[in-house]
Amino acid sequence: MDSAMIAKISKAREYAEQPERISFKSFEVEFHGKHQAYKVGYDSGVWHCECDFFEQRGVCSHTMAMERVLGVMLGAQEPVAAAV
Ligand SMILES: [Zn+2]
Repeated sequence: MDSAMIAKISKAREYAEQPERISFKSFEVEFHGKHQAYKVGYDSGVWHCECDFFEQRGVCSHTMAMERVLGVMLGAQEPVAAAV
């Protein structure tokens, strides 16, 4: 392996330990809950989930779990789950 690639791998390891460098803007995932799977979406700080609870309350166990998993990578927005 050449030295340039070794340097990039080293930098990647360093970056991977600093998730605050990463800000998700939008994505969609399939979330496998206990009983079924739901599509969970995120776009510029706004969550969406297709489960019934989210439809009623605007937040659900799936979006709160995603906030816990992604943490600082969701940008400056304060995670709802952090207040609980
Ligand atoms: Zn949900």
